[in-house]
Amino acid sequence: MTLAGLAPDYIRAISPYQPGKPISELAREMGIAAHEIIKLASNENPLGMSPKARQAAAVALEDLSRYPDGNGFELKAALAQRYRVGHDAIVLGNGSNDVLEMAARAFLSRDCAAVYSQHAFAVYPLATRAAGAAGIEVPAREYGHDLEAMLSAITAHTRIVFVANPNNPTGTLARGEQLALFMERVREDVLVVLDEAYNEYLPLPLRYNSVAWLARFPNLVLTRTFSKAYGLAGLRVGFALAHPEVADLMNRVRQPFNVSSVALAAAQAALGDDAFVATSHEHNRRGLAQLVAGFERMGVSYIPSYGNFVTFHAGDAARVNARLLEQGIIVRPIANYGLPRHLRVTVGLETENQRFLEALAKALGGH
Ligand SMILES: *Cc1c(COP(=O)(O)O)cnc(C)c1O
Repeated sequence: MTLAGLAPDYIRAISPYQPGKPISELAREMGIAAHEIIKLASNENPLGMSPKARQAAAVALEDLSRYPDGNGFELKAALAQRYRVGHDAIVLGNGSNDVLEMAARAFLSRDCAAVYSQHAFAVYPLATRAAGAAGIEVPAREYGHDLEAMLSAITAHTRIVFVANPNNPTGTLARGEQLALFMERVREDVLVVLDEAYNEYLPLPLRYNSVAWLARFPNLVLTRTFSKAYGLAGLRVGFALAHPEVADLMNRVRQPFNVSSVALAAAQAALGDDAFVATSHEHNRRGLAQLVAGFERMGVSYIPSYGNFVTFHAGDAARVNARLLEQGIIVRPIANYGLPRHLRVTVGLETENQRFLEALAKALGGH
C-alpha cells in the first residue's frame, strides 16, 4: 500500500496550480540581482497598493495577538454600502480563490458536475475536482466563453457554471447584455459563479451592473478581489455577493478566521480609495496600448484583452520563455491552459513594458 492510495481517486487526479515564478527563484537560478528582474507573470498591480491601505495595514499590525473579526463586520459594512446589498449577501474570502472554493464545496459533491470554459481560470477545475465532482469543459470560441455551448452543456447533474469575465488567461470579455441573456436562460437550480476579478479594469463603456442582477437572479454568485486593481494580492482578500441563502451556505464551509485582521483593515481602506483605483485603471489602459503597439510593430499576434495582461502568440513558447528568463523577464507560460504556443504578459510600469518588448524582440529573433 502507498500513502497516495489513502486519498480518494479524485484528489489524486488533481494537478496542482502552477503559479508565476517568484523573483527570488529566478534570481537564485540565473544569478541575476533581484532588483534587475522584471516580473510580469501574475497580473499584479505595478503601482503597488493604495497608500491608505498601507496605512491601515500598518495600524492593524499593532494588534496581531488578537484574532481577526471572524464576521468581518467593518469590511462588510463598507462593501454593503458600496454595492447596496445586505451584510447577509456578502461572503469574505482569503482571496477570491477562497470564495470560489467555498461555492464548490457548498454546492458540489460526487454526483454533481460543474461547467466551465476551455482556457478559463485554472481554479474552476481544481475546486470542482477537490469536491469530487465532474468538470465539464466547454470548447472556447475565439479564445472566449461560448455561452451558448455552455448552456447546452448543462445537464441534470450540473450545479455550478463558472464564468470568468474578463477571463484569465485569455483576457476575453462577454458583453453585459449577453451575460444578462445567459442568466435568463440558465436553469434556476444551477448556480452561475461570475468571477469578476478584473472588473475595475473594464473600459467605462463596457461596464455592466451585475450587482443589480442579484435581485433578479437568486442563483447568481459574483466574485471580486482586492488582488488586482486594488493591489493587495499578497494580503489575500476577496469576496462574493450572492443571495442570502447562498451566502449562508458558503459561510458554513468558510474557516472561522479566513481573512486576517491586516487584510480586513487594508481592504476596507482600499475600498475607500477610489483615486488609487482610478489611477490604476488609467495606467493600465496606457500600458495595454503600449504592449499592443509593440506587438503590432513586431508582427506578433495577440488576443485583445480587457484585463491587466495580454496573451500573445509566441510560436515555440517554451523557448521564447526561456530566452526571456535569461534576460531577467518573467512572463507566464500557459501550456497548462491548453495554450502551448502562447505566453501571457501582465501590464507593468512603462519602463518594464518597454524592457519586456525589447527582450521579446531578442527572444523571437535569431537563434
Ligand atoms: C487573479 C484571479 C482571481 C483572484 O485571485 P485572488 O484569490 O483573489 O488573489 C480570481 N479569478 C481570476 C480569473 C483571476 O485571474
